[in-house]
This record gives sequence, structure tokens and C-alpha cells, in this order.
Amino acid sequence: MRELDVPARTRIARSLGAALILVLIIGAGIGFLLLKDKGATNDGGRSAQAVGAGSSSGSGKGRGQAEPSEAVKAAVRDTRVGPFDESHPAVSGLDAPLRKAVQQAARAAAEEGVGDFWLTSGWRTEEYQQALLNDAVKQHGTLRVALRWVKTPETSEHVHGAAADVGPASAAAWMTRNSERFGLCRTYANEAWHYELREGDACPEPKADAR
Ligand SMILES: [Zn+2]
Repeated sequence: MRELDVPARTRIARSLGAALILVLIIGAGIGFLLLKDKGATNDGGRSAQAVGAGSSSGSGKGRGQAEPSEAVKAAVRDTRVGPFDESHPAVSGLDAPLRKAVQQAARAAAEEGVGDFWLTSGWRTEEYQQALLNDAVKQHGTLRVALRWVKTPETSEHVHGAAADVGPASAAAWMTRNSERFGLCRTYANEAWHYELREGDACPEPKADAR
């Protein structure tokens, strides 16, 4: 087998060079996408922390107003918010009478030996409500069943600032026994944690579920 002549060697070298450059470009592209994803995740974490720590952007009450900021959208997804943290949009977005009633209940619960009392959810953005509904559909299989627990952004009392979810289970159990003293009612038989302001003289029987 005779040796390759010089032009043939050059052609092979060029082809190899081109292939190498292609590999480098693809590699750089993948690297960039990975970094970009990582950056987005980190940013999300930071903004949620900043707001949770009490930055006073707190215009949770964005109902019917401008689109909530990214920080507010992230913060309302917190599932352990102190009922007195009025810088938090999940608390500041509640209707004032409901917020005050929940705070009175939290004070009384502490006096009566309930160690932990927080909001697992308060005011929600429409976006968060939709995300919860999407999750519930995945969990329960159909929209019809999911709606027993999670309402739509249009119908949710949370989006209207008219409902607060209490946690942990021990606090919710205390609320089931005591909420009416503070003008709060458990709305649904299948949700020990969900409370709304009482409308009449007495709390009605809880509905079976959110449908
Ligand atoms: Zn609720």
C-alpha cells in the first residue's frame, strides 16, 4: 500500500480539524444550556429567600392590579409563613378582617399550648393557584377529582384573599375546635386546614369538599 500523497494528507487533516471544531461548538452549547438552567434555579431560590426574610416589596395585594413581581410570585409558594409576617405577600394579601382574626387565633393557640402555628398558604397569585390545580390533576388523575381539593384561579377564595390554610396538623386540629371563637369557619369537611371569615351568626356545616 503506497503512502498517501501530500494533498490527500492535507484533505484528511482539514476534515479532522472541521470535525473537532464541530464537537467543540456542540460541547460549548450544551455547557451553556446547563449553566443557564443552574443560574435560573439559583435566582429563584434567592428571590424567594429575600422576600421571605422580610423585604418590603410586599404588595401581595395585587388583585385586579398590575401583574405581581417575580419575587411575589415566588414568595406566595412558601408553605410555612408566620401569621404575623405582614411583609410577606401571603399574609399582606389577605383581607384585613380575615388576617386579624387569624392572628387572634394564633395568639390564643399559643396561650393554650399549641407550639407551632403557621400558614401553609394565604393569599395566592392566579399563577400559583393554576400550578396547584395542575399538580392536583396529576395527583388525582382527572380535573373532576382534583377540583374536590383545589379550585380554579377564578373561583379560589385564596386568590381573593378570603382564605387561610393553617399548619401543622396540630394547629389545624386546634382550629377545627376553636376557630369559631374568632369568627372563622372551617369551610370543607375534607380540609381541616382551610379557614374563612364567618359570614352569618354561626358557621354553617362544612361542605363535603371544594366542588
Ligand atoms: Zn385553602
